[in-house]
Amino acid sequence: IAEFDSVALQSAVDRAYDSFKNVKEGANANYIPILDEVPSDLFGVAIVTRDGEMFVAGDVDYRFSIQSVSKPFTAALIMAQQGPEAVREKIGVEPTGLPFNSKVAIEIYEERSGNPMVNAGAIAAVSLVQAETEEERWELINDNIQGFAGEKLQVLEEVYTSEYETAWGNRAIANLLFNYGRLYAEPEEALRVYTRQCSIGINTRDLAVMGGTLANEGTNPLTGREMLPARHVPELLAIMATAGFYDESGAWMFSAGLPSKTGVGGGVVSVVPGKFAIAAFSPRLNEAGNSVRAQRAIRQIAGDLGVGLYGPN
Ligand code: GLN
Repeated sequence: IAEFDSVALQSAVDRAYDSFKNVKEGANANYIPILDEVPSDLFGVAIVTRDGEMFVAGDVDYRFSIQSVSKPFTAALIMAQQGPEAVREKIGVEPTGLPFNSKVAIEIYEERSGNPMVNAGAIAAVSLVQAETEEERWELINDNIQGFAGEKLQVLEEVYTSEYETAWGNRAIANLLFNYGRLYAEPEEALRVYTRQCSIGINTRDLAVMGGTLANEGTNPLTGREMLPARHVPELLAIMATAGFYDESGAWMFSAGLPSKTGVGGGVVSVVPGKFAIAAFSPRLNEAGNSVRAQRAIRQIAGDLGVGLYGPN
């Protein structure tokens, strides 16, 4: 990509790593007990360009659970299979302005699941994947996420077990959606497959490639596999921009200006459409469940390179 030479991209990544490597604010997620055991000091930063060039710093090979960063990619699968209208009509595209695990949002937003970036909409998205069996549902979702990453990925089984055994809130969400006719599979099946999706292990490089696929109009820059037709990429990025940070989406767009997605495993990915993706990973989260250092790293890189969508920030 002409406007950014590799020296500029690498030095932005290095500067972000150096600036925030000693930050200790925030805390690991602990409502999923095993996430509290991930070493808190890990910190990785990566950029992948639309032509597949990679620039990294820090712990970019450590495998962590993808958690909610999986959500836009399963929404992409629904768009690819059934078109974006299926997402709008059967899930919704309005930001809730509420935490990711809100049950209240299901009640107050006219019995909708909100949008595919929060748990309700993401569980609905899993249930909407066209599949005959639970195994096929899982295979389609897993293959899709692997396609975005351009790599075979493994489920972190201990994370799956830890989350599934404590998933009372998400079970309530699945049941509530089913009650309102907003879930399209059996609730416990949707919950199992959703929890498995969140337990997929990725590293910071994989996350940057996943975002890089969206930056490259839906085609994986490393493998050449089309994951989402280019015409639907803007619709997916729009949902990430308005809801990717849950009840902090406004503040995030205000300060970073990039469509993004976070997860309680500590991963964040941001997309500069048509150019590159920035991914960062660090386990300590703020109150809204968003990684403190990953946010700072991405925001600084976006500022250094002047790529905020609404103007240099
Ligand atoms: N699997 C997690 C949950 O359902 C994902 C939440 C997140 O990353 N924000 O609670």
